[in-house]
Amino acid sequence: MLITATISELKSHLPMPSSGKQIGFVPTMGALHRGHISLVEQAVNENDTVVVSVFVNPTQFNDPKDLERYPRNLEADLRLLEETGCHLVFVPAVNEVYPEPDTRKFNFGDLETVMEGKHRPGHFNGVAQVVSKLFDIVQPHRAYFGLKDFQQLAIIKNMVAQLQLPVEIVSCPIIREESGLAMSSRNELLTADERKNAALISQTLFEAKKLITEKSVPTLAEWITETINKNPFLCVEYVEIVDSSTLQPVENRNSNEEIVCCVAVFCGKIRLIDNIVF
Ligand code: AMP
Repeated sequence: MLITATISELKSHLPMPSSGKQIGFVPTMGALHRGHISLVEQAVNENDTVVVSVFVNPTQFNDPKDLERYPRNLEADLRLLEETGCHLVFVPAVNEVYPEPDTRKFNFGDLETVMEGKHRPGHFNGVAQVVSKLFDIVQPHRAYFGLKDFQQLAIIKNMVAQLQLPVEIVSCPIIREESGLAMSSRNELLTADERKNAALISQTLFEAKKLITEKSVPTLAEWITETINKNPFLCVEYVEIVDSSTLQPVENRNSNEEIVCCVAVFCGKIRLIDNIVF
């Protein structure tokens, strides 16, 4: 496994396009857990060469405190990656990725006016900036993203379509802790008590899935909000039940469309997201 901080060294180790070798790519912000590793393992199974990037992208943080406290643990990350059989790890410094400020403004229309896009202004523009740059550097055939960040996946697919990039976006299932809590680098920032209580988020979503035929969509959203907010450790930022492709709120359940419930919940100071497809 080669670890490099520079674009030129990374490129010199990528297979030539004429070799026909397939490149799989997994962009991450590090503090890796089994969720990330599942993406890397799938990429290793489906490609000849796998590149993982570990880069805490400053342009996608709308809150400087969130950027500052974002967990970083490169040594442990490299140990985990070594076991996956991935080939190249790209760990650039900020000025390797952004030698000049990136002033590009993407337009994702209605996809970015809801949920994370609404509550974290500029977040998806930063995500699109970094992912488009990384795609340009790595030139992957396939790139792997987790359904944990449901809206991010929709944004990335839209960006790939807008820019007509020759990359297949592969969606990977959410990996959860035994308690049901969706794995997240931010879980490391929770106290033991908070972590225990945060499991109520996913448990409520699993219960809600059972209730979907019994309750109307607005009543179900209210029930989820109230159930989570009853726990003193948790405070709901949003609960949205949306069409899984347009991400627009759904009022009535129509059996033809797939709907997904996305939530953002503060557990103490830490903001967690999760979702479930109904
Ligand atoms: P991050 O390091 O948080 O930017 O995440 C890098 C990639 O890992 C993204 O595509 C995430 O959606 C994915 N990911 C993060 N947590 C999980 C999880 N619990 N299960 C599956 N994929 C995940």
